[in-house]
Amino acid sequence: MLTPNKNYTKLKDSYLFYNIAQKTKAYLREKPGTHLYRLGIGDVSQPLCKAAIDALHSAVDDQAAADTFHGYMPECGAPFLREAIAAHYRKRGVRLDPDEVFVSSGASDELGDILDLFQRGSTVLIPEPAYPAYVDANVMAGNRIVHLPTGGAQGFLPVPDDTIAADVIYLCSPNNPTGAVLPRELLGRWVDHANRTGAVILFDAAYEAFIEDDALPHSIFELPGAATCAIEICSLSKTAGFTGTRLGYTVLPKTLVRGGQNLHAMWVRNRTTKTNGISYILQKGGAAIFTDEGQAQVKAQIAVYKQNAKTLTDALDKCGIRYTGGKNAPYIWLRCPGGMDSWTFFDFLLQHAQIVGTPGAGFGACGEGYFRFSCFGSPKETAAAAKRLQTVCADL
Ligand code: PLP
Repeated sequence: MLTPNKNYTKLKDSYLFYNIAQKTKAYLREKPGTHLYRLGIGDVSQPLCKAAIDALHSAVDDQAAADTFHGYMPECGAPFLREAIAAHYRKRGVRLDPDEVFVSSGASDELGDILDLFQRGSTVLIPEPAYPAYVDANVMAGNRIVHLPTGGAQGFLPVPDDTIAADVIYLCSPNNPTGAVLPRELLGRWVDHANRTGAVILFDAAYEAFIEDDALPHSIFELPGAATCAIEICSLSKTAGFTGTRLGYTVLPKTLVRGGQNLHAMWVRNRTTKTNGISYILQKGGAAIFTDEGQAQVKAQIAVYKQNAKTLTDALDKCGIRYTGGKNAPYIWLRCPGGMDSWTFFDFLLQHAQIVGTPGAGFGACGEGYFRFSCFGSPKETAAAAKRLQTVCADL
């Protein structure tokens, strides 16, 4: 008799964004036609930049002629894109062999798939508040999760603790949901900790393009020693608007060895077994992002989201609401006003301002009493939402 994976029975009933969608639907059933201001789920609002669109069109045309047509692509990524990404890292002083770059269909896919490299039942350290998929993917995999709560007093930055023995450590910087960015010195301490204890760091850099402070590291590989303890997971979703187009990359150094096994060689084996590569068309679109023209265009888009952040933080300042993020990250993490808990504030904003945000409790127990706004909306909608926010929160 077949036994399904029993770990699925340990998953919490529903996913954060599913709950939000249900509450929002119920509100709209009650008040049909109401316009909602969506500052919740982190999807982007701006279209792909011109450099990417031109490259995608031209790649489609390539597929129409026998001499430029591409069938299956190399499983780990097209050399032209792996080289473009390695060159991008070189500009930051990080030397990578292009073979250490694995092209993926996005960070979510990788964050789940990469767990194939580790023995089931591994101990996984998840600093919280955290992107909920980390916990769920590890529950499905049957891993033991150690939650590491962080709080406002420490700027929501996790600090290594040698008394916690973990096989795998998740670090997300800039962080979703808090917007906190690990400074070089603290990230260096994590690298030392992992090298000393034999842990592997999964460094989620999905929002690195939002860092504007030159002193902050974009990549864990800017730190000495990271090539023997870290895997970096990146995405073009938020950097370049590829949420629906789907493209990302993972950097896994050839020098990462645990228990006598080379994790790079294992990942090559994994990808060549479980994928048949990412489409030629998408990879051409992705390569355009790493050209000078593409970089200038995506920087201009990010500036729009940063302006949204400013619009929202100005409103919060006027209401005296405390927050972090919004500067080197596209998220604002705020203390719920009036002593409300996260879901009460969610309901309050929905009922009184028709704003949909994300309750902090959905990112781990220590997120209770906090709330996340995303800055990925259109400037017009964000400005309207900020006004409404200010009106309803002014006296709380
Ligand atoms: N990692 C973090 C921290 C995220 O917030 C997200 C998406 O919101 C992802 C990964 C997934 O990104 P992708 O669209 O590349 O799957």
